[in-house]
Amino acid sequence: MEEKIVRGVTLFLVIFSVGVCSGLFYLPMLEVKAQQYAAKQMQLRQERKEREEMWATLSGLEFLNFSTEQAYATADAQNGEETEEQTLGFSQQLRLELPKNCSKDDVTIYNNYVTRRIAFEIKGAEEDYPIRYPLLGKSDHISELNYYAGKDGGTLELEMEHVYELSLDWQEQYLYIDFVAPQELYDKLVVIDAGHGAKMPGAIVSNVMEKDIDLAIVTELKKIFDQSEDETLGVYYTRLDDSDPAFEDRAGLANDIDANLFVSIHNNAFPNLQSVNGTAVLYDEKRENEGNSSKHFAHILLKQITESLGTKNRGLMAGNDIYVVRSTKAPSALVEVGFMTNPKELANLTDQNYQKKCARAIYDGIMQALEEGY
Ligand SMILES: [Zn+2]
Repeated sequence: MEEKIVRGVTLFLVIFSVGVCSGLFYLPMLEVKAQQYAAKQMQLRQERKEREEMWATLSGLEFLNFSTEQAYATADAQNGEETEEQTLGFSQQLRLELPKNCSKDDVTIYNNYVTRRIAFEIKGAEEDYPIRYPLLGKSDHISELNYYAGKDGGTLELEMEHVYELSLDWQEQYLYIDFVAPQELYDKLVVIDAGHGAKMPGAIVSNVMEKDIDLAIVTELKKIFDQSEDETLGVYYTRLDDSDPAFEDRAGLANDIDANLFVSIHNNAFPNLQSVNGTAVLYDEKRENEGNSSKHFAHILLKQITESLGTKNRGLMAGNDIYVVRSTKAPSALVEVGFMTNPKELANLTDQNYQKKCARAIYDGIMQALEEGY
């Protein structure tokens, strides 16, 4: 019995001594680790302080460059001699970091092709978000970068030099962002322009505003394009809501993406004579003799619409004095679908089935023109 106790005590003492010894052995290492950790924390605080100062003085874009240089320097110091891309660990153009308490579901992205503004709305991002979680990377495509803090979160806004689609890759708290030009994604590009908008209603007859009919037709047209699932064709719209883009921006969208076709949808009014009715299409008479002419495109649309809707063919009309017709590099056509001042046509134009039919005719005209080589 006594022997057992002695054995037990001995065993305990042996284990205890080994424990103490190895503890003493590892202690210096733990201390080194603790020192490293403290040094790292101090460096992070220091870097954050630097960014805080820079945020106050630099523009958004300069701040992006500063934060990126800072991250490169830190990564270089840690990893020795590796290339910049390896040290930062990403090859995409930008890396957006989410705040710790946020997930990707808290992010909403808006890409406005007309204003060329891309916004990342981050629920839960606070006032100091750009300083704590700086955006990193490089892009030649950005002309301005801003951050606005709001009540429920913040918005990071990029102003782009050109129209871009986003290629996104989420990896936990990081969103990797690349910018892709529409010309790289699609073989053919079409821009659809709904006339007027917002405070510019166009014609108003019996409380019906032209801008609403124009938009209704474009909305139906979008449904058809969306259903067609043609991945080689990219379709862009100057407006899909009650906004009023500047004429320069409407034509600018088409010119920026090197569109193959530009179609503007309008409706007519002839206040003094209700009997006037029918469809007309305007074209750029100064570019009449070009290979894929604005005039021939206008002719295709006019034929499709009048045959499909059964409206009176009022013919092709010179439209060079209209900004969007004249200023788009792509062959352009401005469709005046019908006369709102004609009671029968107004009734038709406000009817959704008629709008659908009209959209289908415009779609067929566009597809015919593209098949002809526009
Ligand atoms: Zn109009």
